[in-house]
Amino acid sequence: MKKFLVAICAAALFFTAIPAQAENTGIEISDISAEKFNIQIEKFYATLPQAKGDYKSKVRPIAIEGAMNTETEILIRALEKPVAYRDLNYLFVAGTYKNYPVVIVRTEIGMANAAASTALAIKKFNPVAVINQGTAGGHDSALKIGDIIIGASSYDYTTFRSDYSAAGAGIDLTKQENIGTYAYDKASGKFQAYMKYFADPTLLKIAKETADANKNFKVVTGVIGSGNAWLECVDYINFLHEKYGSSCEEMETNSAAQICQNAGVPFIGIRVLSDNVTNDNKYVPETAKISQDFILLVVENYIRDVLKK
Ligand code: SAH
Repeated sequence: MKKFLVAICAAALFFTAIPAQAENTGIEISDISAEKFNIQIEKFYATLPQAKGDYKSKVRPIAIEGAMNTETEILIRALEKPVAYRDLNYLFVAGTYKNYPVVIVRTEIGMANAAASTALAIKKFNPVAVINQGTAGGHDSALKIGDIIIGASSYDYTTFRSDYSAAGAGIDLTKQENIGTYAYDKASGKFQAYMKYFADPTLLKIAKETADANKNFKVVTGVIGSGNAWLECVDYINFLHEKYGSSCEEMETNSAAQICQNAGVPFIGIRVLSDNVTNDNKYVPETAKISQDFILLVVENYIRDVLKK
């Protein structure tokens, strides 16, 4: 009987403790998932005609990347004559947009996936340019969910060397220097550390012009921070914002930029804020639509003003 009472008390304590814990979290973990949208999109992707052989196009396509189904669906639906290719289980859908060859790359989430799928896309499709896009978390409290950041540059905020501190001295990761990521430098013929990768100037110009001509999108030009992490610690985010100037964080841009640097392919990253813990506790994965809508305008202008000239 005594044991039974102890068990009841323990259970009561356990359940009353749960709401107190939940109040502390920023973004609800159950929300950090766009998986709930996936089933319908997967069904649609399964209806796409499958490629029979290698991709062939006289004109080099534009590659547009998105990590998740929610970040690629609108782009893929916009294609004429879409054909699905798969390699190492990554999905690539090639077709045309505004009568120009375009390939959509579903990179999957994270830096290694973005690098691998970008390398495969370059080998399989020989793209004239790569645009990486999708959702991101804000590093700047002046930016709101739904705002777009054109990445004039990107960096990897997880590649740093910390200062030395002795055991028991505590943790202070603000004492760090970024050590960059290694990519091929044509001039020296070697791989060297890049603290940041810059957007291709022509793509950057077109993206800015698209923003200027479409005031229904709220767009800034800034720095995209990438890494295999999702930060919700506002002090550290503020530190990164101040030290490296990042407008936002996500998990793909800088590694795709790194591979494009290796291959000498023009690159730009463009992101929409789905969350920003510096001023809001929400995660709105539906913002992925805003990014894709904007990208389609950028691509249209790029085709008209650069590629068809
Ligand atoms: N749906 C996934 C989670 C996706 S979150 C799941 O739960 O299984 C990670 C993706 O969203 C990455 O592709 C990243 O680029 C983007 N992203 C959006 N907000 C982010 C943030 N605050 N930090 C890091 N990545 C973010």
